[in-house]
Amino acid sequence: MVEKILPDLYKIEVPLPGNPLKAINSYIIKDSERSLVIDTGMNRPECSNVLLPGLEELGIDLKKTDFFITHLHADHLGLVSSLATESSRVYFNQPDATFIQPGNNWDMSSDFAVVNGFPEDEARRAIENHPGRKYSSKKQVEFHILRHGDTIGINDYTFQCVATPGHTRGHMCLYEPDKKILFSGDHILIDITPNISSWSYEEDPLNEYLGSLNAINDLDIEMVLPGHRSIFHDCKQRVEELKHHHQARANEVLAILGKVNQNAYQVASQMTWDIDYKSWEKFPPQQKWFAFGEAVAHLKYLLEEGKVQQQAQGQGMVFSPAN
Ligand SMILES: [Zn+2]
Repeated sequence: MVEKILPDLYKIEVPLPGNPLKAINSYIIKDSERSLVIDTGMNRPECSNVLLPGLEELGIDLKKTDFFITHLHADHLGLVSSLATESSRVYFNQPDATFIQPGNNWDMSSDFAVVNGFPEDEARRAIENHPGRKYSSKKQVEFHILRHGDTIGINDYTFQCVATPGHTRGHMCLYEPDKKILFSGDHILIDITPNISSWSYEEDPLNEYLGSLNAINDLDIEMVLPGHRSIFHDCKQRVEELKHHHQARANEVLAILGKVNQNAYQVASQMTWDIDYKSWEKFPPQQKWFAFGEAVAHLKYLLEEGKVQQQAQGQGMVFSPAN
């Protein structure tokens, strides 16, 4: 289960049962003074039952361990509250910390989805089963906030924080310029495309994401250690593929819009999804929820580019190609 990557740097693959991502990679930098764990897994026994014995095998003392969490999603952050001890620092970013504060509730996302065509009962079921709701930290964690450019030194490594908004508002990578390695969280993955989604038209996460891909492209990287799936080496090529993917997706959305006014839910139902269900109707509400969020992100991007227009229709919101 524990895999050595570089001197004092290890990876533990933590399973995510029933999740298409299959597993999350937790990385450990071991040091006699203080060790660092990057991302943790969900707050569920299937994750702790693998991560804890792995840490023990490495001789990690949690009283002498800090944590760096790349972003707010439950598969990265969920387990940290049960791992962190009183002396642990939990490094995190401000935008995601603000987002998960109590009060930023699911009702807002649900109202937005319904206005944009999502059937109300499906929205309710999607939220009930959302991993972010089921497997997040139940305890409030005190974060030590890091900003772009801040550094963390452990053992022979000096990591620089690189703000990479897009997948979430505050997503942060860690870069080691001497070793030329990047802990990419969910910003760049190899055989899956990171989900870029939105539940409001106030932000433009796809535009931010493309900007964050460019920021990474400027770095000298020999090895990418992502949050899911395999470690890989050709970062520049992957950046190009991801940019191309989103351009193709945006074009697909434009083609779907054709001449008829459509809401975001209707657009999502016609996009192609790499998923094992025969038709949109067969998608579980949870998968429709993620698909819908991606459709909104692409619509917003096209809106900002001046390629589509938006108008109120009845209680809802519809889109059409710009004239
Ligand atoms: Zn994520």
